[in-house]
Amino acid sequence: RCVRSISSFRADDLHITLTDKPKPKPSYDNLPFGGNTSDHMFEVDYTPAMGWSRPVIRPVEPLQIHPAAKVLHYASELFEGMKCYRCVDGKIRMFRPMENLERMERSAVRAGLPPYDRFEFLKVIKKLINIDQEWVPYSDRCSMYIRPTFIATEPSLGVTQSTDAKLFVIAGPTGPYFKTSMKAIRLLADPQYVRAWPGGCGAFKMGSNYAPTVAIQAYAQREHNCQSVLWLFGDDHQMTEAGTMNFFVFWTNEAGEQELVTPPLDAGLILPGVTRKSVLELTRQWNEFKVTEEVIPMGKFIKALNEGRVKEVFGSGTASIVCPVGQILYQGQELHITDTDDIGELTQRICHDINEIHYYLKPHPWMESI
Ligand code: PMP
Repeated sequence: RCVRSISSFRADDLHITLTDKPKPKPSYDNLPFGGNTSDHMFEVDYTPAMGWSRPVIRPVEPLQIHPAAKVLHYASELFEGMKCYRCVDGKIRMFRPMENLERMERSAVRAGLPPYDRFEFLKVIKKLINIDQEWVPYSDRCSMYIRPTFIATEPSLGVTQSTDAKLFVIAGPTGPYFKTSMKAIRLLADPQYVRAWPGGCGAFKMGSNYAPTVAIQAYAQREHNCQSVLWLFGDDHQMTEAGTMNFFVFWTNEAGEQELVTPPLDAGLILPGVTRKSVLELTRQWNEFKVTEEVIPMGKFIKALNEGRVKEVFGSGTASIVCPVGQILYQGQELHITDTDDIGELTQRICHDINEIHYYLKPHPWMESI
């Protein structure tokens, strides 16, 4: 697209229809990730002739799209994942929502879907949260997950940029992502499967990145008792991401310095996680050890592990915040980072500090009122 339209839907134009059949809320114990949607959703459509339609908030119901809609054939879809929390002062706040909306805009440009005003979008998301506020768990472990989604709806099978698009948002209460909660997970690292590559779309949150991963994930679970996959890239088997989390190693580096390291964003292989960015910013602020964005080849990691220099490995993401990694199964080799269920000190500290921010135990500018 050469010219980006500046037109956008506006929060002031929202048309709101409330449900007359509110659903019962699930119990907060054992809330599965993404298993429940709240009562209402946001929806707005784009066509070139009409621009953006009137935005609506309405009861959650199936979408009406044509069977030839491009999203159903060519996976022209992108999404975001963000959370809001019921804070200790009783107010509901979102965590760094503009980070997600900026990432979403980058994904939309890459997917060839039309632009809108992200500040107006944030206003309508806040309105949706307000309407469904009773769905935000009264719990200091749970939160409400918000899923903005953008799909190509032009009813035509041509493999071209879609003229039409639909933007919608659903939300739902959620507990910890992994059933094992804060127990260390085991990852399968098999170089024959690749998630992202230079020039590809790994840095964008497109549905088409995820569809090819679920069978590998299921295989890792079924055959190797691994909760997730460690995605490797390149001849040197660089460790890139853990499932749908960014990947961190805390070690004593070859120079003997304490260092937290995560792969860099510049090659376009890594999703620029909001949690990743927050972990980097927090730990850099502590100024207690080196914090580096650098490629981590498997060979370098195994050497450090064998020399007893690897202290902690963890993944980061909105769903789980941080998740300790206990073992990695790599080409038949069992790499043991921890043998116990104890969670590393740094992993715990990051989790604790971000948790304090989320629930406003410590007021922080990352939290945004709705
Ligand atoms: N990597 C991938 C592939 C992901 O899907 C996610 C989840 N969005 C992340 C990393 C973590 O990103 P964030 O911290 O923004 O949730």
